[in-house]
Amino acid sequence: MKRIIIHWTAGTYYPTGYEKEHYHFLVDKDGNIHNGKFKPEDNEICKINKYATHTGGGNTGSIGVALCAMAGFKSKTCVGSYPIEKKQFESCMCFCAELAKKYKINITPQTLMTHYEFGLKNPKTSSAGKIDIVYLPPYPWVEKNEVGSFIRSKVKWYLQRSEK
Ligand SMILES: [Zn+2]
Repeated sequence: MKRIIIHWTAGTYYPTGYEKEHYHFLVDKDGNIHNGKFKPEDNEICKINKYATHTGGGNTGSIGVALCAMAGFKSKTCVGSYPIEKKQFESCMCFCAELAKKYKINITPQTLMTHYEFGLKNPKTSSAGKIDIVYLPPYPWVEKNEVGSFIRSKVKWYLQRSEK
């Protein structure tokens, strides 16, 4: 696997069957990790209907991890009824560190990114304009163009901690 792409489901706090078809791993409100229908390896070579379709134009080689949250999000001041919880977010960061270790993925902007960042870099794909993740409710001071680097810092911190 070459990279990890982080999403929010734009759904509620616990994964649905439909959501499990689209992501390899889903993190619920309590910080528990749910396996999706497909394994990361199913995205090595994407065969029709046999891989997780999480990032339009970027599914090959990509592990998709989603935070179950953010249904009804419109803006910083109108986040809907399912804002990402701190415990949930931290659990997701810790889990991404485990994935990075397992699959020997370095933490760089090219190898660990949000769906939003992927869309910005690949404007001709259907990922263009995706808003996950432009806002982190537990860390409201992080600007949308900083969320990716904030996430990479967090994952690096968990990686270093696990190596002690
Ligand atoms: Zn997404």
